[in-house]
Amino acid sequence: MRLDKFIAENTGLTRSQATKAIRQSAVKINGEIEKNSARKISQDDEIYFEDTLLTWLDNGQYFMLNKPQGYICSNEDGDYPTIYQFFDYPLAGKLHSAGRLDVDTTGLVLLTDDGQWSHRITSPKHHCEKNYLVTLADPVEAHYAQTFEEGILLRGEKTPTKPAKLEILDDYNVNLTISEGRYHQVKRMFAALGNKVEALHRWKIGAVILDENLEEGEYRALTPEEIASLGS
Ligand code: URA
Repeated sequence: MRLDKFIAENTGLTRSQATKAIRQSAVKINGEIEKNSARKISQDDEIYFEDTLLTWLDNGQYFMLNKPQGYICSNEDGDYPTIYQFFDYPLAGKLHSAGRLDVDTTGLVLLTDDGQWSHRITSPKHHCEKNYLVTLADPVEAHYAQTFEEGILLRGEKTPTKPAKLEILDDYNVNLTISEGRYHQVKRMFAALGNKVEALHRWKIGAVILDENLEEGEYRALTPEEIASLGS
């Protein structure tokens, strides 16, 4: 593996930030400063980043996180903290989320270092169901369930949404199941009906339910059964 890739994966830096840090002498390999970010390294090398020994993590890490409001599901620096800060160094740098929640959406986020597994969750081809509790600004209307079932043409899109299941809980709260992950999909579906999402909470992906023992900001490893249930 290239040195810059290893540093990025193990520190949470982007590849270009890792390259810069390497150039600035932040990395030692087997006791010697290494400034060449393209250098090939192996598990036999002892690699220090700013005096911290980096370890090789095994592949195959799978977690669920209970995401609080105010965190973004990306690595980018921005106006908000990222969900990766809930994970310990150096694990955070290896993980990516299987789909993203908006900054103000709470609940279940799955994270892994296994790109094929996450692809099965996010790819429209696999129709993996996601369940949301939705609180609305205006009362639910009687036709909503049927309209969601028939599909909704979102602003700026050419094809309607796939059939979605809407269960009315009370005048302002519904449980919604969708099998796609279009940009801001749930908010845009309700906006298309003239309503507004006030609060959004994802509680289930496929057969995996958000563990009620997890406080907001806490995570746990997925069980082998949970991993397998989403991976086939
Ligand atoms: N749909 C949205 O609009 N936002 C989310 O965070 C998830 C689904």
